[in-house]
Amino acid sequence: MLTASTKNGQKICLGYNYKKETLLYFRRREEFFCPVCGERVLLKLGDQRMYHFSHIKGGECRNSYENESVYHMEGKLQLYHWLLRQKIPAVLEYYDKKIQQRPDIKFTYENQKYALEFQCSPISEEIFLKRTRSYVDAGYVPLWILGNEQIHQKKKSILSLSNFHYLFIQQTVEGSYYLPSYCPEKKHFHLLDSIVSYSIKNAFIQNRFYPISNVEINCLLNPECLGQINLSNWNFELEKANMNWALHPNSRQNSFLHEIYQHNLNLFLLPPEIGLPVHSSLLIQTSPIIWQTYVYLDILTQKHPMDIFTVQEVERSFYKRIGRKEIIIRDLPLIKHIHPFSAVMEYLFMLEKFGIMTQKGKAAFQLNRNIPFPQSNREREDRKKVFFQKYQRMISKR
Ligand SMILES: [Zn+2]
Repeated sequence: MLTASTKNGQKICLGYNYKKETLLYFRRREEFFCPVCGERVLLKLGDQRMYHFSHIKGGECRNSYENESVYHMEGKLQLYHWLLRQKIPAVLEYYDKKIQQRPDIKFTYENQKYALEFQCSPISEEIFLKRTRSYVDAGYVPLWILGNEQIHQKKKSILSLSNFHYLFIQQTVEGSYYLPSYCPEKKHFHLLDSIVSYSIKNAFIQNRFYPISNVEINCLLNPECLGQINLSNWNFELEKANMNWALHPNSRQNSFLHEIYQHNLNLFLLPPEIGLPVHSSLLIQTSPIIWQTYVYLDILTQKHPMDIFTVQEVERSFYKRIGRKEIIIRDLPLIKHIHPFSAVMEYLFMLEKFGIMTQKGKAAFQLNRNIPFPQSNREREDRKKVFFQKYQRMISKR
């Protein structure tokens, strides 16, 4: 803890960079109390750790606030000074009595109050949701920043993301998905943006690093995302992931495999039009190969060229699949007003650009031609090559 109160209610915040002598002087004259539980706390001024307050007795409060790592304390202090430098009114470890929550930093920007949480250790989805909800109900915008040490990069543009990571995903005004993190050791923000997932765990991402010394609050609240995805890299990783789960399918993947065999389809001979990176892919946890094949089976194979089908029809079959747990939706608590079906719509519009269908009015499409399926691996590879060349620019453009 970096904040405590004196007997007469005055706040002492160690974020002000006091000199050690000043703090020693305070310590001789004052007693300090925890602003949350009111218990006595000691001012620790050792040389090993950062100066901080510590509860004498154990208890609930100690559990929730004192397992803080130096990484966490350093980080919130740096973020706090960063806000002050921009003349943004900020309070370190502000305790909101009404909701009994203590964000790492409370600040006000453009007449909106924010609760900043610099989260350096995994917490359950339940706690994340509870805190988020109570901030929102009390009029705060929750700003969750992930401790960068929680991010383990696989390759330059690929990251393994767990359900915990997905909790932090936010959306820019333009609709791009990003995950903000901060590293107090390197003193930079690390934004993962243009996140397009291709399996339960893995996603394509763009890394952006912003040194805290020369970046402003807007870079965090509404960063510019200009993500581009390389279609052949995407396809390479997607196929590798397919290979993996096809060897040891779970029950859901198994029922998918059964279904496509019944239709005389082969997972390894799907056309390049199935399994494409759509912008909102991360809203659906199920692999794009699977849910896009379902769109093909439920809608496209049922139609002949010139037939019309409605968006509602597509939506109904999508929800049926969700109801049967053949398609799994992701929990993204910070993404509001956007529906997982958007990913399917993006896919339909992509197929339209390939000339496979044409939009008719607001809520219907006409099928122009069916997607041809390759008969051999060789044919598939050839078609992929042509397809990627033709559509790389169109697909990667957001
Ligand atoms: Zn306490």
